[in-house]
Amino acid sequence: MPGAFTVAAGVHRIPLPLPNDGLRAVNVYAIEDAGGLTLIDSGWALAQARERLESALASIGHELADVRRFLVTHLHRDHYTLAIVVRRLFGSRVLLGAGEQESLESIINRDDRAANVYGLLLLRCGAGPVVERLRRAWPEHDGGGEWEKPDEWLTGTEEIELHGRTLRVIPTPGHTRGHVVFADLGNGLLFAGDHVLPHITPSIGFEAARPELPLGDYLSSLRLVRSMPDMRLLPAHGSVTDSAHARIDELITHHDRRLDACAAVIQHGAGTAYEAARMLTWTRRERHFDDLDPFNQMLAVMETAAHLDVLVRQGRLTASITDDVVTYATS
Ligand SMILES: [Zn+2]
Repeated sequence: MPGAFTVAAGVHRIPLPLPNDGLRAVNVYAIEDAGGLTLIDSGWALAQARERLESALASIGHELADVRRFLVTHLHRDHYTLAIVVRRLFGSRVLLGAGEQESLESIINRDDRAANVYGLLLLRCGAGPVVERLRRAWPEHDGGGEWEKPDEWLTGTEEIELHGRTLRVIPTPGHTRGHVVFADLGNGLLFAGDHVLPHITPSIGFEAARPELPLGDYLSSLRLVRSMPDMRLLPAHGSVTDSAHARIDELITHHDRRLDACAAVIQHGAGTAYEAARMLTWTRRERHFDDLDPFNQMLAVMETAAHLDVLVRQGRLTASITDDVVTYATS
């Protein structure tokens, strides 16, 4: 539903459209501040998203030019790129987690495409067939023109003072290495980006500059937010819920089960992350790997590799590399 939905005093959830059919919308949160607006995340740089944002802001008595700054939770296109477009028009400031620096450089230099970074990662996972399918299907929106550096890199030491509220910046690497959430502890609100989503689990390991152990980072980040006071969950996809803790507990349980499932398929003969991904089922509907589109196959392989690497770190599996392909075995 388009529009601006008030979720707390002075805070409005604005769902914006996405071009693909997997996720329907991304939530941007507009926070009213003295003399303007601060937006958490920005949406995908699409004409339709910009129009929706303009009309939603108009419904709360504002216009795009009132946006003084964008606090962006992470580098993914549906969160970051519309901020760059609006900045060009109105000079809004754009702030992003410092951990995204390497990935952004790789995207700006245009070496993040299937044939390059992701292709190499997939080949390491034994997923040559996926690379082939991706090469044919890699989305045409690979323009690159909407990528620029932010005005400021957030390091996690900041407290952002807004009219009557303080947002604490908390680095939560995992979904991407530079992901941050914004906690308004005084009002019990967690602007969670993709770190904690109410209906789905965020993808792990899909980024241009992949860290060594993205799932390990993600689980640590979940525990970090779990150790803070519970807050209402304001996610980037899906509806607002009352308890971030409740969802974090579910996510941790999900990944525990998934780690067990990954260990089991290695025990049953899978060697590479690709082979393991093909023996697992995907999404709540338990779909077979072959029924996923190439982009989701890539996510599935990356996600599986992230789980297998944690199992190696835990000592439950071993990994060996032959001809640049990683093979796992039960230890
Ligand atoms: Zn994301």
